[in-house]
Amino acid sequence: MPFPDAKILDQRDPLAHLRDRFALPDGLIYLDGNSLGALPKSVVERMQTVVGTEWGHDLITSWNKHDWIDLPRRVAAKIAPLIGAEPGSVIVADSTSVNIFKLLAVALAERSERKVILTEQGNFPTDVYVAGGIARLMGRGHEVRLATADALAEATTEEVAVVMLTEVNYRTGARLDMPALTRRAHEAGALIIWDLCHSAGAVPVDLAAAGADFAVGCGYKFLNGGPGAPAFAYVAPQHQGGLRQPLQGWLGHEAPFEFAPDYRPAEGVDALRAGTPPILSMSALDAALDAYDGVDMHAVKAKADALFDLFVREVEAQPPSLEILTPREAERRGSQISLRHPEAYAVMQSLIARGVIGDFRQPDIIRLGLTPLYLRYADVQRAAEILGEVMRSGEWDRADYKRRAKVV
Ligand SMILES: *Cc1c(COP(=O)(O)O)cnc(C)c1O
Repeated sequence: MPFPDAKILDQRDPLAHLRDRFALPDGLIYLDGNSLGALPKSVVERMQTVVGTEWGHDLITSWNKHDWIDLPRRVAAKIAPLIGAEPGSVIVADSTSVNIFKLLAVALAERSERKVILTEQGNFPTDVYVAGGIARLMGRGHEVRLATADALAEATTEEVAVVMLTEVNYRTGARLDMPALTRRAHEAGALIIWDLCHSAGAVPVDLAAAGADFAVGCGYKFLNGGPGAPAFAYVAPQHQGGLRQPLQGWLGHEAPFEFAPDYRPAEGVDALRAGTPPILSMSALDAALDAYDGVDMHAVKAKADALFDLFVREVEAQPPSLEILTPREAERRGSQISLRHPEAYAVMQSLIARGVIGDFRQPDIIRLGLTPLYLRYADVQRAAEILGEVMRSGEWDRADYKRRAKVV
């Protein structure tokens, strides 16, 4: 059967109406929503209210009047269903890096007789750096151990206190088997922390079903919360009793406005709060999450897979073919496609010059995010055609395309 035309796929797309929830620049094909999600229209409106009315007019009374104080909980309640979290087990606070620190501290304290943090070689650097920092801070000979994806199960020995994994790899888009690796960690007596930065809002995640202990994730990628949006943290119900983390800030106190001399942790995930929440960016994330209203994550994944297949077909139809790094098996990948080329940076710059925005990752990866909420099949097809044109013409081969910017 011939592959349906992109136009027909768009006409039949049950998610097609969602694109209208976003403010997208004309004529641009945005394949970087895995790095910075596009702007939902609801955010523009909300920013006007939160800045103009809540801050500008109601000023400090907004902490009560507009319930700013519980915003971290309300935003968390919108994220919970996207990641299969039990009600009340998610909090929105700080950045992913900081949340990793807090949760590693919690997990290491629960497994104080063990000294190994196991993670994947090739995990996102901040995860590994923070693990290294906490290992040093522990001052008791803790160690960060790296294993390749294939060797993770075997490396999960009884020395391991915490397995810390990112479900979807940021470079390749490969997805780890969360239920199996979680089971393996528990068999070895270890705890597990899942980083969902490239999973939340991209693929169906079921933390509760997998039996995950802890998780973190990012607000500005697939969740579209805006640059530097706050992150989230998940703690499974069995770890919530007596939860304590080292960033004992006043808003993680049981009664912050008692201004008591001694710290008493708030109950449950509220103990993960530290300082004052960034109300502007948290409000943006709150409004952005409405783009997921009524959206079934299985439908999102199905469309991402169809977009992936369409892109692959187009790329493979054009010589010279690029090496596709992302697993072909749908269950083994997230929502991106990574291609390898020795001059990946320059190729990406020439795509951007042609109105196709993706990004480059070291050392030789062209990374293209597939975000089904606002991408049309026609966009993905056109992007693949432009990639083919750029490769055939060699227009990427220019000195100015090879000069690296500060942020790549
Ligand atoms: C994007 C990303 C981060 C980002 O962390 P920040 O603290 O928000 O800068 C962390 N881990 C992974 C796996 C990511 O993909």
